[in-house]
Amino acid sequence: MPHSNQEIVELENRYTSGLYNKRPIALVRGEGAHVWDADGREYIDCVGGHGVVNVGHCNPDVVQAICEQAKTMITCPPSFPNDKRALLMAELIRIAPFPAERVFLCNSGTEAVEAALKFARLVTGRKGIIATKNAFHGRTFGALSATWNVEYRRPFEPLVPGFLHVTYGDTTALAEAITDDTAAVILEVVQGEGGVRPGDGAYLRQAQELCREHGALLIIDEVQTGFGRTGRMFASEYYGLEPDLMCVAKSIAGGVPMGAVLMGARVGELQSQTHGTTFGGNPLACAAALAAIRYIETHHLPQRAAELGAYFMDKLRALDRPLIREVRGLGLMVGVELKQRAAGYLAKLMDAGVLALPAGPIVLRFLPPLVISREDLDTVVKVVGDVLAQ
Ligand SMILES: *Cc1c(COP(=O)(O)O)cnc(C)c1O
Repeated sequence: MPHSNQEIVELENRYTSGLYNKRPIALVRGEGAHVWDADGREYIDCVGGHGVVNVGHCNPDVVQAICEQAKTMITCPPSFPNDKRALLMAELIRIAPFPAERVFLCNSGTEAVEAALKFARLVTGRKGIIATKNAFHGRTFGALSATWNVEYRRPFEPLVPGFLHVTYGDTTALAEAITDDTAAVILEVVQGEGGVRPGDGAYLRQAQELCREHGALLIIDEVQTGFGRTGRMFASEYYGLEPDLMCVAKSIAGGVPMGAVLMGARVGELQSQTHGTTFGGNPLACAAALAAIRYIETHHLPQRAAELGAYFMDKLRALDRPLIREVRGLGLMVGVELKQRAAGYLAKLMDAGVLALPAGPIVLRFLPPLVISREDLDTVVKVVGDVLAQ
């Protein structure tokens, strides 16, 4: 067993694919909004596993649910109903921000997007998909075809045909692009990876109307914004959006891999055997998700994210550092756009005990667990102020 940061980092770097820009510390333990590296150093975690631990690291309720389910049944294919899966589906329908009727369970965000795109073509019999500039929807071929970043796309072309990107927030551009062969329009409510860019409510509602007028389906990607992150259970609630397909993943199961597509009446019951996945809705992930959702509701985490997010952004804005171009976000999904590249500053934040993420080249992104304390956020603001003063 490798023990120190150095031993673990060396071993992992020797064998890893090389795909990731790995940080020079090994994380070995987490609790709430804190993580520890292998040398025992503690960090305030505003990476949150890339936004997957809204309920906090090793949330005790999630841990207990996983342990109990592991002793009962870990795996059960989707062709057999299961008690935890059935209950989770009912729970997802109950908390959906629109009249959802059916659920498809999978194992990640990109799988949820992939499934939604396939379902849209299946149900409408149309080919066209409209996505937006700066969008991020995942890395498998279908989801990648909806993603905007050319560096992610170019090495893998040709991608799936039929995709088109229009400017996010531009209703006219969408109105010109949408046709009677458009199967779906896919949108994030807040563009996450693309720079933490909150969408405009009027635009999002107009996009929904345009879809209705043309018989196209609206796919809302709430993979990053879901489960309390933005100050509501789902960001769609801010604008009363009623998508036909809603993709979720990241924080759905307290850190356990899971994704889901929630579907409305225009999608209906899908034809059997047209899509599927071996692990989708496995009981272990379902038990974790049930515990995570219950925790989010009983501890009012969406409200907490709204309050703490406003507090955090106010304090970041008050820093008034010339290096900061803009502080923006929704709830505890927060971006600080700099006038310089973010990478060096992320390294300095880490040295000072704060883990944060990039969102594009010049944005510092903060996705802390929603259980983070006000005192921890004060510390984060102080460290950001110090690092950006240098
Ligand atoms: C992270 C993310 C995805 C992809 O999820 P993975 O689990 O990494 O495949 C898709 N859409 C959005 C908005 C995301 O933030």
